Amino acid sequence: MEKPAHIAIFPTPGMGHLIPLVQFAKRLAGLHKITATFIVPTDGPISKAQQTFLDSLSDGLDYVVLPPVNLDDLPNDVMIETRMSIQILRSLPSLRDTFKSIHATKKLASFVIDLFATDALDVAIEFKVAPYIFFPSTAMGLSLLFHLPKLDETTSCEYRDLPDLVQIPGCIPVHGRDLLDPVQDRKNDAYKWLLYHAKRYSLAEGIMVNSFMDLEGGAIRALQEMGSPPVYAVGPLIQMDHSSTSAEGLDCLKWLDDQPSGSVLFISFGSGGTLTSNQITELALGLEMSGQRFIWVIRSPNDEIANAAFFESYSKKNPTDFLPQGFIERTKGRGLVVPNWAPQAQILSHGSTGGFMTHCGWNSTLETMVNGVPIIAWPLYAEQKTNAVMLTEDLKVALRPHVGENNLVGRVEIAKVVKGLMEGEEGKCIGSRMRDLKDAAAKVLSEDGSSTKAMAQVVSKWCT
Ligand code: UDP
Repeated sequence: MEKPAHIAIFPTPGMGHLIPLVQFAKRLAGLHKITATFIVPTDGPISKAQQTFLDSLSDGLDYVVLPPVNLDDLPNDVMIETRMSIQILRSLPSLRDTFKSIHATKKLASFVIDLFATDALDVAIEFKVAPYIFFPSTAMGLSLLFHLPKLDETTSCEYRDLPDLVQIPGCIPVHGRDLLDPVQDRKNDAYKWLLYHAKRYSLAEGIMVNSFMDLEGGAIRALQEMGSPPVYAVGPLIQMDHSSTSAEGLDCLKWLDDQPSGSVLFISFGSGGTLTSNQITELALGLEMSGQRFIWVIRSPNDEIANAAFFESYSKKNPTDFLPQGFIERTKGRGLVVPNWAPQAQILSHGSTGGFMTHCGWNSTLETMVNGVPIIAWPLYAEQKTNAVMLTEDLKVALRPHVGENNLVGRVEIAKVVKGLMEGEEGKCIGSRMRDLKDAAAKVLSEDGSSTKAMAQVVSKWCT
């Protein structure tokens, strides 16, 4: 008989990490009465998006914010993986103190960390609390991480220069240039950090991955065949509830209520994605040319990096100032531009939404699958290019626009792909495959579903 347990959870910085971990904790609380304390690392005041989200915690879930660490010495162009790893490293002393005091009163059953927080595994080991990893991305990404030390030893060039495709155990072969950002330059610290974390994954007593059998059966089986640490496919865990919707978000949902069923393309590049100013212009003119309805979550442009908003989704300037002149007036009625942040989960589950132009972040990908909404894949950073390959070439649930000269996707191409998804034959086939995945996702999360059972297995280890 399971006894209720309390666990601590330590997310890597960034909304894309916090959101699935919170869903994981909510499901543990709902199904197994497990309570949890989030220990949140910071490098300044926590963002508005994070605060709203943390304030929505209930049912035995609470949080402690660690004192901010100073990252001012890091160069401006430091990659996010390096920045996150250093933030975790510098947070270890305060993490240890906080962990110790929670453990003294609540007797922790497990310490769950996510992908770039492996230094925190030592804290769990020191206090003899079961260390677990929650991997918020693909089983393919996890399989690559376990394969990376071998790939590193056996490859002398950059992976993007390999003549052959890279064979990640259990996955569709991918070109080196489509692998995740931090492996694109092996001399960069971000690569060294990734390799470091990959080698530490075996310290965990178990790894939960936010995926499911029907979606990534090959990769999940390959991971399970490794034997140790055991890997549990517990997904898709996505944000569902409406509790954190702001007033602007509610306006956007009201607008959707007045649109015809399946007619609106939702456009969003995650919590941190930014486009260049030229790309914003092309996207705006392409949407206009397509004649389709849309909601576009727009951020101020950044001409150098594609994840400029990763740690703060709200930009200081008004993003709509960067749209072509007259665009908002010309598309009035059929298009809605939302600055910075929109209630994505509710938009994707709304009946009027019929397509999603996404950067292929894994949460966004799972959210669209659970709702059966077909995709236009527009990867920007992190592991998104690999996800885009999986979505277009393996699962065939996405169209991917052709990137032209100067790394720009032109307006004509955008209009073609948007119309193709929303009105074309190919769009219909993609829609039907997406509906199959939607049904499969619902099944794995049902009472007897494979993800429900996998989570119960983890809980039985914590509670005996
Ligand atoms: N999100 C949202 N509103 C926005 C942008 C993002 O609610 O305007 C949520 C989205 O629903 C998803 C998460 O933020 O749950 C983004 O995670 P993802 O893994 O897709 O991308 P990342 O932000 O980590 O690149």
